[in-house]
Amino acid sequence: LEPKEEYGSKALAQDVMRPRRSDPPLAVLTQEGMSVGEVEAMVADTDYSGFPVVVCQESQRLVGFILRRDLVISLENARQRQEGVVSASLVFFTDHVPAQPTSGPPAVKLRGILDLSPFTVTDHTPMEITVDIFRKLGLRQSLVTHNGRLLGIITKKDVLKHMAQMANRDPDSILFN
Ligand code: ADP
Repeated sequence: LEPKEEYGSKALAQDVMRPRRSDPPLAVLTQEGMSVGEVEAMVADTDYSGFPVVVCQESQRLVGFILRRDLVISLENARQRQEGVVSASLVFFTDHVPAQPTSGPPAVKLRGILDLSPFTVTDHTPMEITVDIFRKLGLRQSLVTHNGRLLGIITKKDVLKHMAQMANRDPDSILFN
């Protein structure tokens, strides 16, 4: 991400973020309501480095971001060290965990491993600014929101790929299209 030359692209964060229209939806966790088994299945079915955590599927309001490796280690730990944890145990990323019914399995509390202020840009943020922020803050990823709703994610690799694409194009078409 060396600032070697002027970045002339008029692209916006929404043009670079994933998922693309044809991609499967963003893999997100909800701050409550998911079981250990469901979270493990999401981790096993994807190879993303991290997952946004939202209030609920309907609102898509961002709560934080969790790294895949921290999630894997914490779930393994909970299974091994926390008495009674099974696939049906509920996972909570919330501040407050409601009392679990004494008959059911204990809850797993994971708020401690959540990044509560992940970097975000809006869908209309120009890529020029986004690239600058990635460079200056040394970001690995940024989340993309619209009116507080989580829309997507841009990783450092997405930014690099986008810049490589721009560099391969006729400079005029980048500046004036
Ligand atoms: P990298 O871009 O370094 O390979 P990832 O493996 O995390 O990092 O992401 C691979 C691709 O999937 C990227 O294009 C990224 O934008 C996208 N992506 C990352 N996390 C998620 C997620 N939770 N849900 C959907 N897509 C994601």
